[in-house]
Amino acid sequence: MTDRNQILFDRAKTVIPGGVNSPVRAFRAVGGTPRFITRAEGPWFWDAEGRRYIDYIGSWGPMILGHGHPEVVEAVQAAVRDGFSFGAPTEREIELAETIIRLLPSLEMVRLVSSGTEAGMSAIRLARGATGRPKIIKFEGCYHGHADALLVKAGSGLATFGHPTSAGVPPEVVQHTLVLEYNNVAQLEAAFAEHGPQIAALMIEPIAGNMNFVRASVPFMRRCRELCTQHGALLVFDEVMTGFRVALGGAQSLYARLIPGFEPDMTVMGKVIGGGMPLAAFGGKRAVMEQLAPLGPVYQAGTLSGNPVATACGLATLRVIQRPGFFEQLAARTRALAEGLKAEADRAGVPFSVDSEGGMFGFFLLPELPQNYAQVMASDAQRFNRFFHGMLERGVYFAPALYEAGFVSAAHGEAEIEATIEAARAVLPTLAA
Ligand code: PMP
Repeated sequence: MTDRNQILFDRAKTVIPGGVNSPVRAFRAVGGTPRFITRAEGPWFWDAEGRRYIDYIGSWGPMILGHGHPEVVEAVQAAVRDGFSFGAPTEREIELAETIIRLLPSLEMVRLVSSGTEAGMSAIRLARGATGRPKIIKFEGCYHGHADALLVKAGSGLATFGHPTSAGVPPEVVQHTLVLEYNNVAQLEAAFAEHGPQIAALMIEPIAGNMNFVRASVPFMRRCRELCTQHGALLVFDEVMTGFRVALGGAQSLYARLIPGFEPDMTVMGKVIGGGMPLAAFGGKRAVMEQLAPLGPVYQAGTLSGNPVATACGLATLRVIQRPGFFEQLAARTRALAEGLKAEADRAGVPFSVDSEGGMFGFFLLPELPQNYAQVMASDAQRFNRFFHGMLERGVYFAPALYEAGFVSAAHGEAEIEATIEAARAVLPTLAA
């Protein structure tokens, strides 16, 4: 066996569970050998065999400028020279907080943390602390990080309290987490009718990127807002993936355009705001955020929170994406990819549906775009796996699971999009049979 990826994978498996530090990297869903990445540049990365791939995962979202953007590299290098971490406040943390608040007007204050998991977990604690209520609503197919209370799947029947999706989470820990079907207004209304005064927060991915790419419908989102307001629950947008990715103002700016006066009460962010460094955040209105320690009774902290290198990376990234025309061009590239793939699938007679927003996209080997998790999971996994491996062999690295979204960066040029469509032109006809 001479494949360097396989050699590294075998070696990794002896010292790291499954050979990876985050499960989806192991290619368990699609089979085969994960590629060990040695370096990346612009829209590409290279594996241990020296093979180059067009990268459509972008570190699962953060790399919106592509890899190694010169301005970001320079900012990070300068920051590193001044010190890696101080455990004391810095001016860059203020700058980043000010930038986030300017770009997301629903926020008045923000706190920086190091991962989306931490941000989601802290937002839930704060929502419970601020409202004095125990229950939270989440939706099947949405992922908000791996905090215990959020690792829940729907029980059988409507609007039931969920079951842990992971061993090691006692049922009592998720007894206050209500799991509902995404885009299901009737279930939502029933849940509030039954538990309204107990509900601290409703947490939602406004465009659910952890079941590939499923939009919350406008009537559904409107009801989420109305019911939260009516019952005094906080509407928490998980924009870890969509924030600064689907639009400069996040998914909330898109819903604000469709629902007059719309805004969430709290927002959870990550990925793009760190530009590839460990950085995430949660924010909301002042009255709620001031419940946090050291001002208020809700405890939350972090040794590396607001890390000076990470904030430099995030600030440089946010600076570039604010330039005029940035999102128009990114969205046009992403649409060109989506439309190109769709045209090839149609030609090959393969059922295919695709959607995109800004630099995020999802495609399904299904005739219609799904509206919820059950519909996503009705996809033909075997067929997806053949598509994934066919594309991978041709140097195109899509997410190695059918329930993951894809990402286009500003470094993906017309040539990369065209090469991707050309690869699909070769692979899709092999799926038709
Ligand atoms: N929320 C969403 C919407 C996510 O997509 C993710 C990660 N994919 C998280 C939270 C958790 O973020 P992290 O992996 O940084 O903990």
